[in-house]
Amino acid sequence: NSHFSMVAPHSKRPVVPDVIFGTGREAQDAEAKYGFEKVINSTLGVLMDDTGQLVFLPTVMERLRDLPDSELGAYAPIAGLPDYLSAVQEACFRGHKPNAFTEAVATPGGTGAIKHAVWNYTEMGDEVLIADWYWAPYKTIAEEHGRRIRTFNYFKGDGMNVEAFKGAASELIAAQERVLIILNTPAHNPTGYSISEGEWEEIMGFLREQAKDAAKKIILMVDVAYIDFAGSIEASRDFFKHFGDLPQNLLVLTAFSLSKGYTMYGMRGGAIICLAATQALALEFKDVCSYSNRAAWSNGTRAAMRILADVYKDPVLFQKVEAEREVFKDLLNARNKAFMEEAEKVGLQVCPFRDGFFITIPCKDPAAVSNALKKENLFAVPLQGGLRFAPCAVSEEKCRIAPAMIKKYV
Ligand code: PLP
Repeated sequence: NSHFSMVAPHSKRPVVPDVIFGTGREAQDAEAKYGFEKVINSTLGVLMDDTGQLVFLPTVMERLRDLPDSELGAYAPIAGLPDYLSAVQEACFRGHKPNAFTEAVATPGGTGAIKHAVWNYTEMGDEVLIADWYWAPYKTIAEEHGRRIRTFNYFKGDGMNVEAFKGAASELIAAQERVLIILNTPAHNPTGYSISEGEWEEIMGFLREQAKDAAKKIILMVDVAYIDFAGSIEASRDFFKHFGDLPQNLLVLTAFSLSKGYTMYGMRGGAIICLAATQALALEFKDVCSYSNRAAWSNGTRAAMRILADVYKDPVLFQKVEAEREVFKDLLNARNKAFMEEAEKVGLQVCPFRDGFFITIPCKDPAAVSNALKKENLFAVPLQGGLRFAPCAVSEEKCRIAPAMIKKYV
């Protein structure tokens, strides 16, 4: 187009309005007009109570308010506070750390971890492999850095389409020297799917086989943003056992977030953690991600790091936080159950669902379905292949009536 522009060519891209926040604003307008009770606002990916207020872990918020100025206002070390870096590994693995060399670097949320993985472990122009149902920022981050995404069909029946994954991965591994794969599990956004034990076995068997070609470098990033809402500690962390004793050219990274599990969304806490075959690879990871921290945001939010480190140092505090999160999990599970029971009853087909903040309804024309539902005061986010409903944000009662409403239009 012809209008004069000052930005560098690589930053020129179409301006696309954010569909999640856009639909959210429409929902708020409807709430103002018709009243909160009359509107189902299932747009935002944050946990809210039945009255539409964000919920926070009380102990986390109390501790934040009680922090001394020196912990609130000061910088953190570039890689993160040392006691945070051990606490965040504990919070991620919870006793399920496999046999590997690990290091962690603090990032502002899981988002920062994804950015570091894309920048440091792929080359300019490379394709990053992700599922076809995906969190939009994966694409944004890849493209911001001159990379592209390649997708595979995530589902087959009620499980993962491991064959499609293998097909796409082997093509990419053949075409590129290095391949970064990002899998968001457990409790995937937007579908709520969690990769099963048998699927993990197949995935890792395949990747270990591919890694026998010593000329190839395979990096698997597991985005565990919702891991604390995917059943018990045991059930949600068991899959880490598949990452032990890796060959040196197969590196596993995790993107850990304090946003959901510790309700510190806006505090921007998180980490990138590596599981590497050798100490040298783990130290290399730590060096490059620290360098990237310096280049992108210097250091993360000290207060968020301080809280997590304190929680993991004090068993009483730790138990309080765990108990508080259990209440939220029960709330979420009850809503998910209500939605799934009704979906079953009215014959509404949903993507394979296990746990988490979202349930996705595949449909032909998601924008049209979303628009039709808006007229009935149900607001859900249209994605490329379906509609994302967010039980995290609506009451159990509303989760129970939504499936029949959606069923009319899909
Ligand atoms: N990954 C997924 C799939 C998410 O949905 C989110 C948050 O919405 C994140 C990562 C990271 O969020 P944050 O940067 O707040 O930790």
